[in-house]
Order: sequence, then structure tokens, then C-alpha cells
Amino acid sequence: MTEIIGIIILGLIVGSFLNVCIIRLPKQKDNIFRESRCVKCKNKIDWYNNIPLLSYLLLGGKCKKCKKKISWMYPVVEGLTAIIFYMSYQNHELSLDLIFTLIFISALVVIFFTDFNYFLIFDVVTLPLTALGVIISLFNMNPFYITALDSIFGAVIGYLTIYLIRWIYFKIKKVEGMGLGDAKLFLAIGAWLGMSSLLFVLFVSAFLGSIYGIVYIVINNKNKKTELAYGCFIILAVVLYQFFGKDFYNFINHPFVL
Ligand SMILES: [Zn+2]
Repeated sequence: MTEIIGIIILGLIVGSFLNVCIIRLPKQKDNIFRESRCVKCKNKIDWYNNIPLLSYLLLGGKCKKCKKKISWMYPVVEGLTAIIFYMSYQNHELSLDLIFTLIFISALVVIFFTDFNYFLIFDVVTLPLTALGVIISLFNMNPFYITALDSIFGAVIGYLTIYLIRWIYFKIKKVEGMGLGDAKLFLAIGAWLGMSSLLFVLFVSAFLGSIYGIVYIVINNKNKKTELAYGCFIILAVVLYQFFGKDFYNFINHPFVL
């Protein structure tokens, strides 16, 4: 029980730090480790008003000093991170697998929300994540049980696939459809989840993205040039891969047996 409470509190604290990364990464000169200030009135936030989740609820979602609204993203990221930490703990218990899984997930949370908020995926997140994925696979410590060869090929093929799609799209439409950030996200996913994940993630993310795009255009009556945070759909597909990856490949291999 103490372990469970500990892991949830750790999730809340890490979630709070991920919020800081999400907010400050786009501002290049901002230091991740400086003290917290309200983004609206710039006043320093006292530590007792900066407790994950709890402070947001106690303050009614408003800054103590300027009374302006605090973004819903803070409690959502904190709560989400705590839930994922708890679920991962249920899966792995206290182990090296758990630690590496939590690092992978934390990075994905940052990527999801920087793409969601700013349409940006940062190299400073994806590239070290890729390197770590390859290194732990080399030492047989990949929590998804991927071999070193699978990790390296997964990264390279993942990157090249998106690079190629992007290039073809550019040749046909003469505009950039996807950012290189998406390619680097696939680089990291290949390094952590191996080659076999790529087909699933590509297929499902494209499917989800298309549905979202169509619904968005119908509801908002906008033209087709709406910007889409494709990285968010890639990460949703990675989550679904954990649950349905096996069934998907069983179905592809034996479509009539299922
Ligand atoms: Zn304020």
C-alpha cells in the first residue's frame, strides 16, 4: 500500500515537472529549473500554492494573486501522469523495467502536449529518447523486450518511412504536410518498440488523424488546410498498440481464424 501511494505521489510530482517542460521548452531562453511564476501576472508562486493537483483544486483553478484562470492542462497532465505511473507499476512492480517504462511514457506526455499546444516536437526530447532506447536494447534491458537489432532497424525504418511519406507529399502537393518532428518521433518509437510496432502505429495514427480531420472540417466548416497535430495521433496509436498490437498482427496473419 505504501508503495502504491508512493508511486502515485511520484507520478504527481513528475507530472508537475512535465508541465514545466511543456510550457518552457518552446521558450528557448527559459530555464527548466528556475522557480515557478504565474504565466499571466509573472508573480512568484509559493511552494504551498504549487502542490500538484491539490493546489489547483484548492485555488479553484485561479492564480492566488491575479485571480486569472490557470490552464486546465496542469491538473490534467499531473493526474494523467499519476494514473499512468500507477498502471505501469501494476504491470512491472518495482523493477528496472518500470523505471525505463516511466521514462518512455513521461517523454511521450511531453511530446503529446507540446504538439497539441504549439504543433512542435522537440529534438531535445526525441533524440535523447531514441539514444536511450537503443542503449538499453543493446544491454538487453528494453522493457518491451526488443533486441538491439530490432531497436536500431526500428528507429531507422521508422524515420525513413515518415521522411519518404513527407517527401512524396511535398512532390505532389508542393507544401509540407508533416514536420520532421513526426519523423523523429517515429525514430524514437522504433528504437523503443521495434520494427513490428511501426506498421500498427502508422496505420492507426493515420486512421485516427483522418477521422479527426473529417469531423473537424464538418463541424467547423473550414477548408482542408487545417493544421493537425499528427504527433498526438502517433502517441495515441502507441498507447493502443500496448493493448491491441497482438490482435492486430494475429488478424493480419490469419484474417479468418480470429
Ligand atoms: Zn497570476
